Amino acid sequence: MSRYAWVLGACGLLAAGCDPGGAPSPSATIDPRDMGSDDDVGAGDMGPTPVELHGQLEVAGTELRDEHGERVQLKGPSSMWLNWENDGFAENVEALRWMRNNWRATVIRAAMGVEPDGAYLTNAAKAKSQVEKIVDNAIAAGVYVIIDWHDHNAQNHKDQAVQFFSEMAEKYGDKPNVIYEPFNEPLDLDWQSTLKPYHEAVVAAIRAKDPDNVIVLGTPNWSQDVDRAAASPVAGTNLLYTLHFYACTHTAGLRGKADGARAKGLPLFVTEWGATHADGGTDGQVCLDEARLWHEWMNAHGVGWTAWKLDNCGQDSSCILAPNAPPAGGWTSTYLKGHGVFVRARMQDE
Ligand code: MG
Repeated sequence: MSRYAWVLGACGLLAAGCDPGGAPSPSATIDPRDMGSDDDVGAGDMGPTPVELHGQLEVAGTELRDEHGERVQLKGPSSMWLNWENDGFAENVEALRWMRNNWRATVIRAAMGVEPDGAYLTNAAKAKSQVEKIVDNAIAAGVYVIIDWHDHNAQNHKDQAVQFFSEMAEKYGDKPNVIYEPFNEPLDLDWQSTLKPYHEAVVAAIRAKDPDNVIVLGTPNWSQDVDRAAASPVAGTNLLYTLHFYACTHTAGLRGKADGARAKGLPLFVTEWGATHADGGTDGQVCLDEARLWHEWMNAHGVGWTAWKLDNCGQDSSCILAPNAPPAGGWTSTYLKGHGVFVRARMQDE
């Protein structure tokens, strides 16, 4: 069986109604360029790690640049909400090394849940230990890591966020690996009166301990309204702004809004995307044609990204891994599902 048919047989890219035990659907097709490779594209590569290669990052105009002044486009996975991450994929250093070597991942995002029961507000010690494990792994593996305050209502938890990011900046501010993301997806908040002051408070707390590492700032309306941030950016250096897209939901209109923000000088980073609907793909659908347009856009502008999400949930098509994926990597096509092979192919793109 070809690799192509094998993935379809494994229910990899079928729409809703996919039966893992059934015959591949004749209508489910995927461009080979969107498959990526099971081969160990980087395994055994003893070359420099991403952080050895790029070092301390900086923001210059609309670009993220490395310590040599070259534009750098980071690519990698986002974790699941860590409070709901039962299998520890994102906390496994062997898995991270494997994704670095085989998928060419250069960054991982640690999505630390805040509000749900058992997340940061009710179990800070556990949440912090999960984040620190991922950051320590990233430092060991030489990849970049985004510390994400994964909260839709962070304006109500500003004091806790300030305290948390102050601690993280104190502990990790001298490591070039670390990127801070203080507000995952704000709801429809007023930028000027609510969201911008929140960011100013957290940025000040970080900058008191760490003068230079990159900070990615959430934008209104689920990190869509980058135009509102572009009209009145936060003062400071090495600040990026978050844009999220889900390709079955967000199309050319949102890219146009992002183009407008970039034209005003706003530098963007996509800390979440899916080739799915914005709910994470509960209907099982993937929209690869539109996702491809998004990636052409990000590649053209050097916009970095982390893909939602490194998890093996059974249903959502944004879950990259199949339920039987082993914990420490080795995720060939048979262990990928939903938009997983597409995510892999985009990471493996040079
Ligand atoms: Mg620093």
